[in-house]
Amino acid sequence: MISETIPELDAISGRVIRPNDPEYDKARTSFYGGFDSRPGAIVRVADANDVARVITIARESGAEFIVRGGGHGVAGYATPQGGIVLDLKDMRALDIDAEGRSAWAETGLTAAEYTTAADAHGLATGFGDTGSVGIGGLTLGGGVGYLVRKHGLTIDDLLAADVVTADGQLRHVDAQTEPDLFWAIRGGGGNFGVATRFRYRLHPLAAIVGGMMMLPATADVIQSFIALAEAAPDELSTIANVMPAPPMPFVPTEHHGKLVIFAMMCYAGAVDAGERAIAPFRALAVPIVDMVKPSRYPEMYPPDDPNYHPIATGRTFFIDSVDRKVADTIVDQLNSTDAQMRVAQLRVLGGAMARVPVDDTAFAHRRSKIMANVAALYGSPDQASVYEPWVHRFVAALKQSDTGAYVNFLVDEGEARIRDAYPGKTWDRLRSIKRRYDPTNFFRLNQNIPPSPP
Ligand SMILES: Cc1cc2nc3c(=O)[nH]c(=O)nc-3n(C[C@H](O)[C@H](O)[C@H](O)COP(=O)(O)OP(=O)(O)OC[C@H]3O[C@@H](n4cnc5c(N)ncnc54)[C@H](O)[C@@H]3O)c2cc1C
Repeated sequence: MISETIPELDAISGRVIRPNDPEYDKARTSFYGGFDSRPGAIVRVADANDVARVITIARESGAEFIVRGGGHGVAGYATPQGGIVLDLKDMRALDIDAEGRSAWAETGLTAAEYTTAADAHGLATGFGDTGSVGIGGLTLGGGVGYLVRKHGLTIDDLLAADVVTADGQLRHVDAQTEPDLFWAIRGGGGNFGVATRFRYRLHPLAAIVGGMMMLPATADVIQSFIALAEAAPDELSTIANVMPAPPMPFVPTEHHGKLVIFAMMCYAGAVDAGERAIAPFRALAVPIVDMVKPSRYPEMYPPDDPNYHPIATGRTFFIDSVDRKVADTIVDQLNSTDAQMRVAQLRVLGGAMARVPVDDTAFAHRRSKIMANVAALYGSPDQASVYEPWVHRFVAALKQSDTGAYVNFLVDEGEARIRDAYPGKTWDRLRSIKRRYDPTNFFRLNQNIPPSPP
């Protein structure tokens, strides 16, 4: 069924964008380039009633259906061919209760929009590393960002949510009301309904010591950087991107194209203690660029270029440790391809994230030590066949004992990898909750948890 021909959609309060609309091409574009799907209708819902109506219309018509928040999904589900896109972009209300240290946020908001508004009260909730990512997709999968060691995953600050399920019913969920559904949406992704708003806990955060530090990426420096990040206080979360230095104006030209650690550092605590925590990283080597300084938290999200749509192939997985051999492998592999841009990203986890019991939420990898991503960026989609084998070789060379997966960074990797995101009892419980709330698998264009064996 091509959703262009579903006139019932026009009865909603929001807007319906169809292929003949001047806004159509912009509206169907997602963050990643290389996808060219043409949905029949992009429905910019105005409120939870619209969400319920669109779900009902899509279900009854049999049209393909997907949900879109910030459009940063990495798996290419963001635009189904011919179907309906339920787009939350116009639902961006934010109600901050500064005294009660919580906020109700509609799910069309981006991480940067929420973070900037909360910062005006000296408060913060942790999202990811990129301001333009939607709070919807990020939160439902877990949320690993600059406050992960200090305050845990984004879902660890999720207090409640409003969710429209496949039967069109708007449900309020929290630890007391519909506790199973509340458990499932904290890590289970978009499988259980459309979240229209979230209630988050806010933490006081007047200032941080943060920003980018660039160090030369020898194997020694990589290994020592990770060792320091592991030993650092929980206030410090880091993201080490080992990659060729980009030809940016603030990078001295003699380093352009040479391997560096493009490190994002965020110390969420007192400035003096932050400077002390950062000092050993500065001592690893003479920094090529050092922009780490006392800042406001939203400065971790510099403005994103809305016209940047990279074409990339990559894989994300967990590793246990970075010893000298692993560091050597990273350097060797990055030097073994001519990809325009290539990166090995290492995020040391632990801290508050690891202190939450594993079965408290559907995010099952609390004890994983380091999240690694390897990726190549290139000029056109037909080059994927050149760089995918390189990514696979790189992953195989780094793989250790942790076989888990983080659903928000899974690309289209097949059912076995979805099972890796939800091992053992987590999978069984998610399946039984799915059977209860979405027995026909209406929400299936996602990292799918089928209600019955596929
Ligand atoms: C540049 C970049 C940086 C990233 N950095 C991080 C990071 O630091 N930490 C991290 O944890 N993740 C990160 N991610 C991954 C990100 O969390 C996921 O891609 C997430 O799904 C994006 O959410 P979105 O709303 O922007 O995407 P969308 O493409 O809009 O949504 C992705 C999927 O999420 C589901 N979904 C979204 N909103 C809703 C909703 N309201 N209700 C129900 N289902 C919904 C749908 O299944 C949808 O297909 C990053 C991604 C990118 C592209």
